[in-house]
Amino acid sequence: MNNTNALTEIMAGYASRRAKAEQDAIKRAREAGLKAPVYAKALLLEREALVRYGKAVLEAPDNADELKAALERERAALILEREAALKAAGIDPASLLPKYECEHCRDTGYCGDPIKRPCGCMAQRLMEAALVGTHLDERVSFEKFNLSLFSGDLMNGRAESQRAYMEKVKRAGERYCERFPDNPKPNVLFYGMPGLGKSFMLGCIVRRLIERGHNAILITAYALQDIVLRERIQNQNTLALAPYINVDLLAIDDLGGEPRINNVSSESFFSLINERTRANRATLVATNIASSELQDRYGDSVASRLLDVNTTSIFWLRGRDLRQG
Ligand SMILES: [Zn+2]
Repeated sequence: MNNTNALTEIMAGYASRRAKAEQDAIKRAREAGLKAPVYAKALLLEREALVRYGKAVLEAPDNADELKAALERERAALILEREAALKAAGIDPASLLPKYECEHCRDTGYCGDPIKRPCGCMAQRLMEAALVGTHLDERVSFEKFNLSLFSGDLMNGRAESQRAYMEKVKRAGERYCERFPDNPKPNVLFYGMPGLGKSFMLGCIVRRLIERGHNAILITAYALQDIVLRERIQNQNTLALAPYINVDLLAIDDLGGEPRINNVSSESFFSLINERTRANRATLVATNIASSELQDRYGDSVASRLLDVNTTSIFWLRGRDLRQG
């Protein structure tokens, strides 16, 4: 789901919730009218008064103020009559008002007068739509990051355990999100064999950033290559690639896992990473191919961009494959 679709769907949801709340209120008012006929009569008289007022103003616009004052007097009396009738029938007048899911925006998605701004419920819905758009598994988050899955034994030839190291990586990821988009090093590279938590880290960062209101896209190199290839075939310039160039944070999972097709991979990744770096936009990469292979596959310029320690934090994940239990 792209952003425009998501917004259209969200707005349609508001319209239907609002319509339902209002129709239900009309139904309750009708039922109240059966129990308290004076209430129904007062409602009818009020409507008639409004119609009469409208006609009178059209006929004598100069008398508008006077007519309005007369209407208000009449309405005030009818409202008193109505409420007394409801009270006598044991009906709470508040129970006849529309029951909106969100009382702040009355299910319109916007608050404020005269300047409208998105309601908190709208911001929440947009964020949820963005998360759905990333197809992130709900188990992927810093909150659900389970350090006990990693071995507490010292890693071969190292003075720390996989668990202690992953705790550092997790903290670095959280810090990265807190500082975003002002990280001294905007890019992050997670390198390591499959099953060590690289994709999980990308997912945690993307989720946290979306929750904090940033735009972030998580995509596999395979899917990204697919988009590039289609675009080449359809010759659409960079339209389909634009979101991946412009998004605040692009997380590319499993770089090197895509099929090798002539120079398409290297060229497309070069221009993408190049444009993002020039615009100072953050790119995260997870890969299990060694730096020499990165160079071989994508060329020196991409490899040196990806491995530039001035702009990229590099984490080398080692240890036991989590998927082997
Ligand atoms: Zn609201």
